[in-house]
Amino acid sequence: MRMSGARPDCQSCGLCCRRPVGPPMPYPEDIERRAAEGRPEIAPRLRGRRGDACPFLSVGLGFRCSIYSTRPLVCRHFAAGGSACLELRRHAGDEGRRGKN
Ligand code: SF4
Ligand code: SF4
Repeated sequence: MRMSGARPDCQSCGLCCRRPVGPPMPYPEDIERRAAEGRPEIAPRLRGRRGDACPFLSVGLGFRCSIYSTRPLVCRHFAAGGSACLELRRHAGDEGRRGKN
């Protein structure tokens, strides 16, 4: 996920988890990993996501993924500072800047 702070171009705004365009499409790797981990509850919750913040987004002192170790492949490959990230931030204005919720 992009909120680890490890990437210098991530503003930790959480927009990529708060402003989804739809539920993340599961890849075979996601299905296999969750089956191996015994986490069947994840897929239905992600499928039910419709424009709201991801149900696995934890909002406390900052935005955190509560299933970080088994987050969907599409989340793993979302590029901080990439075109989708920059577009989200551009549309959000101040909300997309560090320290804003
Ligand atoms: S939208 Fe971009 S800057 Fe904001 S948390 Fe996601 S990756 Fe980081
Ligand atoms: S699964 Fe985690 S990384 Fe993916 S959208 Fe939800 S909170 Fe964000």
